[in-house]
Amino acid sequence: MSEYVPARLRREIRQRANQHCEYCLIHEDDVLLPHEPNHIIAMKHDGATSEANLAWTCFLCNRAKGSDIASVDPLSCEIVRLFSPRTDRWDEHFQLQPDAKIVGTTPIGRATTSLLKLNRKQQIEIRQTLTMASLYPPRLGPAHSDQSS
Ligand SMILES: [Zn+2]
Repeated sequence: MSEYVPARLRREIRQRANQHCEYCLIHEDDVLLPHEPNHIIAMKHDGATSEANLAWTCFLCNRAKGSDIASVDPLSCEIVRLFSPRTDRWDEHFQLQPDAKIVGTTPIGRATTSLLKLNRKQQIEIRQTLTMASLYPPRLGPAHSDQSS
């Protein structure tokens, strides 16, 4: 969830993410509800309100993630940590299929895809429409590489 984050910090993490959700990659101009900061490690788990612990997320991803930091890999049924946009590369844990479904390719990717419900019917339809207009997926920039910390 997005506990209070100072405006300066919100601007920095929004810019770092190129205004895209760092989980489902949707641009903030392409959804109705505004994107928000998310504490990767929630404050209730002593996560800091800092650049290194914040991700820019769409409303749906943020609400689905909440304060969770781990979930169950649906394939192995093991508990694994969630994807971290700060320390993980998106394309090492997820794959975007031609039909605009996001598939987890690792235990972390599968658990995150499942918990955040990245493949709701409506989200897939939006991604398909944006894909046809060449507006999705975004090119993954430095914010999604190892240089992000
Ligand atoms: Zn999202």
